[in-house]
Amino acid sequence: MLDLIVRTGKLVTPEGVRQADLGIKDGQIAQIAPEISEPARQEVSAEGLHVLPGLIDVHVHFNEPGQAHWEGIATGSAARAAGGGTAFFDMPLNSLPCTLDAPSFDQKLAAMRASSHTDFALWGGLTPQNLERLPELALRGVIGFKAFMSNSGLPEFPHCDDGSLYEGMRIAARLGLPVAVHAESDALTAHFARQKQQQGQTTWRDYLDSRPVFTELEAIQRALLLAQETGCRLHIVHISSGAGVALAAEAKARGVDVSLETCPHYLAFTEEDLERLGALAKCAPPLRSGDQQTLLWNQVLQGLVDIIGSDHSPSPPEMKQGDDFFALWGGIAGVQSTLAVLLTEGWQARGLALEQIARLLATNPAQRFGLQGKGLLAEGYDADFALVDLQQTHTLKPQDLHQRHPISPYLGRRFVGVVRETWLRGQRVYALGKIEKPNEVRLLTRHL
Ligand SMILES: [Zn+2]
Repeated sequence: MLDLIVRTGKLVTPEGVRQADLGIKDGQIAQIAPEISEPARQEVSAEGLHVLPGLIDVHVHFNEPGQAHWEGIATGSAARAAGGGTAFFDMPLNSLPCTLDAPSFDQKLAAMRASSHTDFALWGGLTPQNLERLPELALRGVIGFKAFMSNSGLPEFPHCDDGSLYEGMRIAARLGLPVAVHAESDALTAHFARQKQQQGQTTWRDYLDSRPVFTELEAIQRALLLAQETGCRLHIVHISSGAGVALAAEAKARGVDVSLETCPHYLAFTEEDLERLGALAKCAPPLRSGDQQTLLWNQVLQGLVDIIGSDHSPSPPEMKQGDDFFALWGGIAGVQSTLAVLLTEGWQARGLALEQIARLLATNPAQRFGLQGKGLLAEGYDADFALVDLQQTHTLKPQDLHQRHPISPYLGRRFVGVVRETWLRGQRVYALGKIEKPNEVRLLTRHL
């Protein structure tokens, strides 16, 4: 007796899209067949709908414990589920304390268990001050270590100088865990920011000019060299430019163990949009030119980008107000819209295959980070999936957003596709605007 059958959905698998039934037992996919005849306690019709593997966002900031007024685990994970997501990796900073040692890990884990609507993994921090704490974080089950090569904007999470990054990568390599880097040159971005501010030039355009593409390339190059030298698995978060992807993809082709992440906002907006959107679209690295975006899209289509993470990093609305663009909080709140951006700008506008979307948003994240039983619609895998109606469109409204502050640069944008339902290990966590709490959420760790 099966627990659940999802009938006649169009399953998005690596081999292509095919219509089939999904049979689910004990939270896992027990059977995939054109027509399952075994009895089941419950049946759900997915007729006319596409079934995607539950999306895994490797890059969010939910800011809890300590800063739940910025986002929060309950609201952030609800938004994730509403966007078709069944797992997220929370970054070690913007919560208080930052996740830099075993006690802070334990605090965050308890908060996650209490409030999350989906499964999750936790990044540990890598700063010059906690190198000796990396082994205890590995024992606790962090998914990897995150380092900032530039200023994080937070004094409690200092940037990694080259020496500390080198030592941290050596330790991470020994522990078998990846290091994720925010790759922008601290020396160069600080220099240009100082120059601008001393001249009283503090508009959105000045901010863009203080972080040109080459400051990203310089840091990517350095991170690649250090990873090659230490044998550390490298993950480069939020690569904003086509030039950045080209640089990292070339190193990967040479054999450097690196994975490449970009974000939906670099695919949906260019620097021209910053004038209209203002602080809502401030991020670091910043939005880029149309030419860089075109290059980036081509690389996504060619499969050179491995993963698309949201880098959801909200703040209270008042931190987004003021005249000095440098002083405003940088971070884009988009955790709910990743799939919508890829379906609209990728699948519909550029012919990006649905299989490729599933790879970027689920399969590759699971494989790169060693998540067992995640990221695929296949027998023996967790029954994590989203039912998506590709015949429908929607225009994003504030009341659609499940995150704490209903602000997003995507508001008012028309998107293809509507997420009807999201299921986590055979349990419905989201259905048409409503969030349901699962019986259990799990900490996801690396299976070596
Ligand atoms: Zn981030």
